[in-house]
Amino acid sequence: MQQRSEHDLVVLGSGIAGQTTATTAAEAGLDVLLVEKQPTLGGTSTMSGGWFAFSGTPEQAEEGIEDSADLFRRDLLEGGRHLNDLALVDAYLTHQQAAYGFLKGHQVRFREVAISSGMSAARGHNSEIRGVLATLHAAFVAAGGTTRTDTAAQRLLTDGGRVVGVRAQGPDGPVELYGRRGVVLATGGFSRGAEMLKIFAPEQLAAIPYGGRGNVGDGLRMAWRLGAGMADMSFVAATYGSHPDTGEEFHELLTAYYLGAIVVNTDGRRFVDESIDYKALGRAVLDQPDGLGVQVFDSRVRAQSHRGIPLKDMDTLQELGHLHQAGTLEEAARLAGVAPDALVATVERYNLAVAGRATDEQGRTGLCNGVGTLPPIDAPPYYAYPAKALMTTTYCGVTVTPDARVTTVDGEPIDGLYAVGEVVGGFHGATYITGTSLGKGVVFGHLLGTTLAGTAPQGRSGGEREETAA
Ligand SMILES: Cc1cc2nc3c(=O)[nH]c(=O)nc-3n(C[C@H](O)[C@H](O)[C@H](O)COP(=O)(O)OP(=O)(O)OC[C@H]3O[C@@H](n4cnc5c(N)ncnc54)[C@H](O)[C@@H]3O)c2cc1C
Repeated sequence: MQQRSEHDLVVLGSGIAGQTTATTAAEAGLDVLLVEKQPTLGGTSTMSGGWFAFSGTPEQAEEGIEDSADLFRRDLLEGGRHLNDLALVDAYLTHQQAAYGFLKGHQVRFREVAISSGMSAARGHNSEIRGVLATLHAAFVAAGGTTRTDTAAQRLLTDGGRVVGVRAQGPDGPVELYGRRGVVLATGGFSRGAEMLKIFAPEQLAAIPYGGRGNVGDGLRMAWRLGAGMADMSFVAATYGSHPDTGEEFHELLTAYYLGAIVVNTDGRRFVDESIDYKALGRAVLDQPDGLGVQVFDSRVRAQSHRGIPLKDMDTLQELGHLHQAGTLEEAARLAGVAPDALVATVERYNLAVAGRATDEQGRTGLCNGVGTLPPIDAPPYYAYPAKALMTTTYCGVTVTPDARVTTVDGEPIDGLYAVGEVVGGFHGATYITGTSLGKGVVFGHLLGTTLAGTAPQGRSGGEREETAA
């Protein structure tokens, strides 16, 4: 005896990618089932910083920020070391305005625009992400969508080579969920999947495990079983900048290094150009003693704290006792477990380079991605934030066409199978640029929802039916 239900579309995973696809398709008239393994919705998306990368927005224009799709493209390709799937990059740039419009149409407000990892212009648009996800889900429900939580998809069901549904484990036992238009994998990455990390990036097991509890790579496995291709698997890297005691409720990543901090190891020495992308910094810090890199800065950088804004909220970190403050560099070093004399010498050499009287020992020339003027570190009080690499996300996975059809290792689309969001590989190439993961979830989720609805018959063509299969 097995439960069975049939819909136009079955979407697996309720993060930003799944919810955008589901809401778009439901609002366009399809009967959509959204399936989530966990008891609550949102996955890694709900734990994220809420930054979306878009170029050419009114928010940028209001602040006089010069940016363009061409510059965005250049950053994506340079960051990705030209290993990105160009068709996906170009599809993002072409459809980003529609995705931005979709969010705006669902009352999303961007409260800050900032430069961050891998960008050469300020194009990170910050949202209150939990609110965004709640609004999208409310719209999905209002459009007649059905949601199942506590239901883990396990196997794709095929008929003559076409994916027609999925077998899942629900709270009351096994279920078969059928999608007349197909099945969408929006199951996120495998940041919590020790088995998958062992296969693709064993060195990253040393990072702090993080991301959605359900993100162990189920979607990737299901597609793999059907012969899906994979991309970017060798670029998995944790993100640098989280205190060793990072919890799950507060977004703890700090990127003071993009505001003028240096990063030293416990020996008090710098070991990397701090302006490079924070995934590359994550790799560099894993090689340091105890996997620790301490962000050291002065009151100039501290003054740029923005309470409540992820990556910049030094106020809350200080209240948590994770960010140390001291009148002297030696004292800041002691509080953070760094060799004091070596740190003082390191800062002296750094300040000489910033003043143009020496060459920087790590070749640093700017705040972020080569952009921005470096301030000296000489205005007390001083601050030290010990941080590790956080395994937030994996950003690699199945190969797809720009319209989100999963392709085999031979490049042939698998009929009826789609993938959006972090489960997809190829878009980022060698690295991720801030805001492009929530961004690609909305861009490709909206595009897919629209495409599938465009081929759908007028009006709704079904409803959830609980049936008993023989
Ligand atoms: C601390 C942190 C900060 C971040 N900040 C940003 C940021 O500011 N900007 C940005 O662009 N990116 C950011 N990221 C990355 C970004 O959050 C993720 O890459 C993105 O949210 C992934 O979205 P998704 O919808 O693809 O997957 P998720 O949001 O992870 O959703 C996938 C869902 O699928 C569910 N699922 C998994 N397996 C199954 C199954 N078998 N059956 C049913 N459901 C299943 C999971 O439980 C989960 O709910 C951050 C990540 C972290 C951890």
